[in-house]
Amino acid sequence: MAETLLEAKKLNNFIDGNWVATNETSDVINPANGETIVHVPLSDGGAVDTAVEAAKKAQKEWAKVPAPQRAEVLLEVGNMMKERKERLAQLLTMENGKVLEEARGEVQEGIDMAFYMAGEGRRLFGHTTPAELPNKFSMSQRCPVGVVGIITPWNFPIAIATWKSFPAIVAGNAVIWKPATETPIMAHELAKIFEEAGLPKGVLNVVYGKGSAVGDKMVHHDDIRVISFTGSNDTGRNIASECGKQLKKVSLEMGGKNAVIVMDDADLDLAAEGIIWSAYGTSGQRCTAASRVIVHEDVKERLEERLLAEIEKLTIGDGLNETNKVGPIINKAGLEKIQKYIQIGKEEGAKLVAGGYVLEDGDFAKGHYFAPTLFTDATPDMRIAQEEIFGPVLSLIPVKSFEEAIEVNNGVSYGLSSSIFTTDANRVFQAQRDLDTGIVYVNAGTTGAEIHLPFGGTKGTGNGHRDSGVQALDVFTEWKAVYIDYSGKLQRAQIDTE
Ligand code: NAP
Repeated sequence: MAETLLEAKKLNNFIDGNWVATNETSDVINPANGETIVHVPLSDGGAVDTAVEAAKKAQKEWAKVPAPQRAEVLLEVGNMMKERKERLAQLLTMENGKVLEEARGEVQEGIDMAFYMAGEGRRLFGHTTPAELPNKFSMSQRCPVGVVGIITPWNFPIAIATWKSFPAIVAGNAVIWKPATETPIMAHELAKIFEEAGLPKGVLNVVYGKGSAVGDKMVHHDDIRVISFTGSNDTGRNIASECGKQLKKVSLEMGGKNAVIVMDDADLDLAAEGIIWSAYGTSGQRCTAASRVIVHEDVKERLEERLLAEIEKLTIGDGLNETNKVGPIINKAGLEKIQKYIQIGKEEGAKLVAGGYVLEDGDFAKGHYFAPTLFTDATPDMRIAQEEIFGPVLSLIPVKSFEEAIEVNNGVSYGLSSSIFTTDANRVFQAQRDLDTGIVYVNAGTTGAEIHLPFGGTKGTGNGHRDSGVQALDVFTEWKAVYIDYSGKLQRAQIDTE
């Protein structure tokens, strides 16, 4: 199927509007069946240098194009993504494994972001304010930063790139984008769309290659003034410290240990449905996936029964088969990490009540599949309740009260998403105030962010920036304060006059 969707067997870098081949490549494997889909360039730092030179030149001109005209390119990109939605979704399922329904949802997020950020072309609001002195005008405005670098993970190969590149481009920057080596096809498709939509050469450049080569070169390149990174905590911390040494702006979106709280007054059927979708959708490989359920002890047994019944119904397999609800794990290393945590959970004394094993029979053997897993009677301090597993593994933690539930939710090093199921209005308002995460859901699971709201988290999830929403513009713009004195004389601010 890949042959019919992709024109080439080998992808190329996209630099200064040209498709540039490299000598070295690596194979891109479909995690559902082990087949090689395409070959991706393994570039070296030299490709980053070439891309940055092109981007610097292009950005100077791009910044002078009026923002509403820049936005028209994004509108065209959004329309083209809409036309190609099914093709993009199928390719996304092949390279990443997520089931087709979710792949369509991810492409839709990109489309939404294109239209939302196109609107920013007519806003990009600054402020006009009164000046302290007579006959003086003052205002603030957003300015592009210049050349920006974006580094993206494999688990959302197109949505995350749109959260970063669309605000960067509408604000007048040029972009160097390094996609994850596992999932390069969406980058190829999006670059092609930008090319056909008429984006000037050099404004968007895609450089494929390993993080340790291309990513590292971007982080250390003097002319890349912003790094916007989404990925693991270890990589992000390292990037932040390297950027810190260079006084380079860095935006980090990293891991999560997200919880669903289920109170004694909750609608348990609804809660079970929300938990199943958040925990096992994308095989748990979402930064916002639920991996803890903090449940009031009075309803624990009833909730557990419902979850076990729902887990039984989950169909697992290749995401291109629309009857499947849970797809594969991205690669062998991902599978091994999950297995390691199953062992840890057992040794810590949590009770394994569903799954806990690799699926290896028949067609499963060709891909990387893990059975949806449920631990119960976990305690908040266990490693399975503290560390990001990034797989279909959920732990039930019983608590005695609402206050304890909030404390357990907040007692982890991450702060991305949280949710509470309750029918008590007072608890709803207390919870949205006290849950220490960047995203809070009430009577819904921990996934399902909308692009016009800020996306990101507190504590170890990030460093205070946000992807998507109008807040994304803060990453890719500098503020300039402008004072215009039309008094015809020298007026000195803050200096006492007689
Ligand atoms: P990762 O290993 O950190 O990789 C992310 C990106 O960084 C990849 O493109 C990778 O390149 C690159 N990279 C690796 N080493 C680098 C280095 N030394 N310098 C510069 N770039 C480098 O993360 P992942 O395993 O792909 O992604 C999963 C993680 O992302 C999870 O922790 C998940 O929670 C997090 N995530 C967070 C959000 C959020 O918004 N909070 C959203 C989605 C995912 P290569 O892989 O090509 O070498």
